[in-house]
Amino acid sequence: MHYLISYKSTNWDSVLLPLDDNTLQLTIQVRVHLRKVEPTDRGIFDDLIIDGKGTITDRSSGYKYQANPWTMAEWQDFENEYQKVITNYWDKKFDLVPNRPWYKSSKGLTPAKIVCGLSMDIVKTSPAQAHVALSIFNTRKKPNTFRSFINTTAVPKTGCFNRSDVETDMFSWMPHRYRSESAVSRINGVAHAVDYVRNTAAHEFGHILELDHVGGTGNDMRDYGFNNVDDADTLLGVGRAQSAKFAKPWNQRLRGHLIRQNHEDQLVNFTPTLSTPQMIGYWDNGELIHVGGNLWMLKSLFGL
Ligand SMILES: [Zn+2]
Repeated sequence: MHYLISYKSTNWDSVLLPLDDNTLQLTIQVRVHLRKVEPTDRGIFDDLIIDGKGTITDRSSGYKYQANPWTMAEWQDFENEYQKVITNYWDKKFDLVPNRPWYKSSKGLTPAKIVCGLSMDIVKTSPAQAHVALSIFNTRKKPNTFRSFINTTAVPKTGCFNRSDVETDMFSWMPHRYRSESAVSRINGVAHAVDYVRNTAAHEFGHILELDHVGGTGNDMRDYGFNNVDDADTLLGVGRAQSAKFAKPWNQRLRGHLIRQNHEDQLVNFTPTLSTPQMIGYWDNGELIHVGGNLWMLKSLFGL
């Protein structure tokens, strides 16, 4: 089996390099252009309109948000945090393990595993040179932030983020604008009030890697995995755990790097595994009961 060291594409570039006789690293390289949006800017970003006076309006919902000016320090912090978050959540999280020896090392054929690396470069020049161009608004949690998104069909991909997206916070069961009271997590089929630890920038990076939500391709509760707390607790649910199935971008790209020369080579395939055990990132507040109307109450509160 031969392999290509480097591979370039519109969605990302990648490099496959040996580390030792039993290990290679496949690094996906994503170039991201970050553009700061100031309140004096005017423009249309998908459904968001910014009017030049700092008011952001969501055309689909009618909701309004306030864009604040960026200080130099805030922008610097955002860039640094974004780099840190993406590396922490996505670099070297998976290994691709082969079913048989395939790699021609100095000691003969070995069943070398592939470490899945992620490197993100922030492009300062023009968005055209990036794989992803993100517009960042300085909106904070209070009074509210708009829902961040990535448009994966554009080339380069585009998206809008809030400054607070790099922060890790709790995604709570309590009703809020984007979530009805009936959107509760299920544990063994039973409704529970569950809080999740999450990071929006890390979740959205999954979409930049062309991953769908853990339970489907849409934005319904089922797509976020609420039918099963372990799914909901993943990065492409509403939590922060990695799942071996999110190694798909590496497993697919590896096929582009490998040059299979004979029948034996055709028999080689790789299984994605997690490189480290994942911590549980949710807190279960207990079972819920329906108390009429559209309200859900904690069962433990009433001792029922
Ligand atoms: Zn999403």
